[in-house]
Amino acid sequence: MTIVDTTTELAPNEAELLARVPDGLFIGGRWEAGTRDPIEVQDPATGRVIKRIANATPEDGIRALDAAAAAADAWAATAPRVRAEILRRAFDLLQERRADFALLMTLEMGKPLAEANGEVTYGGEFLRWFSEEAVRISGRFGQNPEGTGTMVVSQRPVGPCYLITPWNFPLAMATRKIAPALAAGCTVVVKPAELTPLTTLFFAQLLADAGVPDGVVNIIPTSTARTVSEPIIADPRLRKLSFTGSTPVGRTLLAQAGQNVLRTSMELGGNAPFVVFDDADLDKAVEGAMLAKFRNIGQACTAANRFIVHESVAEEFARRVTEKVQAFRVGRGTDDGVTIGPLIDDRAVASMAKLVEDAVSRGARVLTGGNAPEGDGFFFEPTVIVDVQPGSELLREEIFGPILAITTFSTEDEAVAAANSTEYGLVGYVFTQDLARGQRMIDRVDTGMMGLNTGLVSNAAAPFGGVKQSGLGREGGLEGIHEYLSTKYTLIPA
Ligand code: NAD
Repeated sequence: MTIVDTTTELAPNEAELLARVPDGLFIGGRWEAGTRDPIEVQDPATGRVIKRIANATPEDGIRALDAAAAAADAWAATAPRVRAEILRRAFDLLQERRADFALLMTLEMGKPLAEANGEVTYGGEFLRWFSEEAVRISGRFGQNPEGTGTMVVSQRPVGPCYLITPWNFPLAMATRKIAPALAAGCTVVVKPAELTPLTTLFFAQLLADAGVPDGVVNIIPTSTARTVSEPIIADPRLRKLSFTGSTPVGRTLLAQAGQNVLRTSMELGGNAPFVVFDDADLDKAVEGAMLAKFRNIGQACTAANRFIVHESVAEEFARRVTEKVQAFRVGRGTDDGVTIGPLIDDRAVASMAKLVEDAVSRGARVLTGGNAPEGDGFFFEPTVIVDVQPGSELLREEIFGPILAITTFSTEDEAVAAANSTEYGLVGYVFTQDLARGQRMIDRVDTGMMGLNTGLVSNAAAPFGGVKQSGLGREGGLEGIHEYLSTKYTLIPA
């Protein structure tokens, strides 16, 4: 693989874009300067601070909820068609501002520009999809079995929502929550990850330009997520908490939400199995592996974590993926030809080194990579590692980085057992040309999503989400809007 030297200077177009990104809190339709030390946002490719932004206090958080609560009735009463058209305008504006959003995500999060562009497309689709769904919220109507009355079932917006997002997909994780909430008629307070708040602030400006009324969307970046979130979650005006992030934080938030019996959606961690059978089309499996493992520098909840490969093809599979990995160009995501960017921070780099060390100490072999290169930024070499032994941390933990770890199996039952031996259940990938076997794997692998002969499943029109400790609820698809609606039944006696 090639490691590209990174310059630490911002290019003029980067500086100009960053100057246009708002640096305040967005509350009640107004930009506010913060009252405490700002959040310093870094470029992970250089470690350099690229912007300082307002840092919300717990009081700011409650004021944001005040604004969302004050705007709730009017927004719920706004005609679905009007809500739909505002979301559609937001979709159109995002296409116009595509280049800015892509560059901004590369600057604050590190993914290569081509992938950032892909995220603008994916993130934008939630605006388009839910603009279409806003006018299709329907209920049921019918006679009761006794024949003594009419039962009417309708859907109402749940009310003010608190949305907490992670840093790995700064735009898509926000649109995947904001778009269905607004489509359903809910107002929101959004707390973006402190590592990547700029995209959300820039998006707040876009929503205001698209005509979202004051107070419907409020944005509160903060460096103290817990102390700002607790009072919001404890406030009886809040009716819904939607969180995307790690399973440990999800557990804490679920416990807090329990106090007020709050509606919750939890999109948590993953530990995806990627099973390759001996009858798989290896070209497709290798191509799928590259996508499922190295997209977003391995920092995706859907990232393939454990490659479970039939013993008869494991060597050939490992050889081919190693060849591909050695052709990667690692560097700042803005540089030409770069395919792998930096990790999000130095803790992530240290965690990769620890995972490799643990696996090697138990008998695994590194075929390529395995180290953090010298120099600025939070880089780790894309790595292929084989003979990973049971009990290795690489198999238990969510890797969240560019390490492709291979284990082997001999029977289908063994593959199923290995795939399911985790507390997570977000997504699984299976490669086989035998359709009956593929169907059996879909039935037996305990996940919320499956990719059959593909390494990428996400789609705004599909229900995204997990089982087991990967979470509760679904985002996207026909299901996504129901996370923000509550069902009301009325009996009208005959
Ligand atoms: P994280 O759990 O550390 O943080 C996620 C968000 O929660 C951030 O905004 C953070 O500030 C906030 N947070 C942290 N502690 C909090 C607290 N006590 N109270 C309130 N908010 C708190 O996760 P991360 O490192 O930002 O993201 C990576 C994780 O997200 C991975 O586990 C990944 O699998 C998961 N993820 C899941 C999905 C999905 O759809 N299932 C999608 C993307 C990422």
